[in-house]
Amino acid sequence: MKFYITTTLPYVNADPHIGFAMEIIRADVIARYHKLLGDEVVFNTGTDEHGQKIYQKALEEHKDPQKYCNEHAKNYAQLKSILNISYTNFIRTTDSLHITAAQEFWKRCQKDIYKARYQIKYCVGCELEKTDSDLVDGKCPIHPNRKLEVYDEENYFFKFSNYQQRLLDFYAKNSDFVIPQFRFEEIKNFVKSGLKDFSISRLKEKMPWGVQVPQDTKHVMYVWFDALTTGCYVASNAYVSWSSQ
Ligand SMILES: [Zn+2]
Repeated sequence: MKFYITTTLPYVNADPHIGFAMEIIRADVIARYHKLLGDEVVFNTGTDEHGQKIYQKALEEHKDPQKYCNEHAKNYAQLKSILNISYTNFIRTTDSLHITAAQEFWKRCQKDIYKARYQIKYCVGCELEKTDSDLVDGKCPIHPNRKLEVYDEENYFFKFSNYQQRLLDFYAKNSDFVIPQFRFEEIKNFVKSGLKDFSISRLKEKMPWGVQVPQDTKHVMYVWFDALTTGCYVASNAYVSWSSQ
């Protein structure tokens, strides 16, 4: 059997904490279990290095963002020896391979990408848009000490709404696509509640620290649109090498 597992990719703006240790050790246990069964295992982890939060942190420390990321990514790569982790891939979202993959992903999504005005409240701590119903006393409940930013700019949007029914049909046909079942139910309910198009770029003049949008030098990709390409990229590479065996 072939087995692929990835952790989430933590942002490099803080040192590794106990919560991530728990996650990577759990992934390690699963990876080792599959190795014992005789499976061929690809175990991916790495660091998420773009976005406004990291850009602001680097500026605060008067460092070039790339240099800042290089210093902090090391702390995560070292977990391999400190925690005796058996990962086989460590990918950084500033690696050229990742950037190429993210730009290719953008191009493949092109028919679902359009430009529109983006007016929202934004929590830099979460790197997420916040609607009024998400807020407690006008603040992000996870980051009550951070001031919300107000965005008003022209961005590229992804037509997520196009995929609502297709995803629901897919889930209905693939009943074990997500385990455990109660998480699968959460996802189905989220999709059923309505998928809204979302902004996938940032104006470079305000926030330059991201993957360049193909064919538009004024925009970089929104961090959540670039970072998640990595897990797919490593998985598809593993798949290609497995299928050629
Ligand atoms: Zn937040």
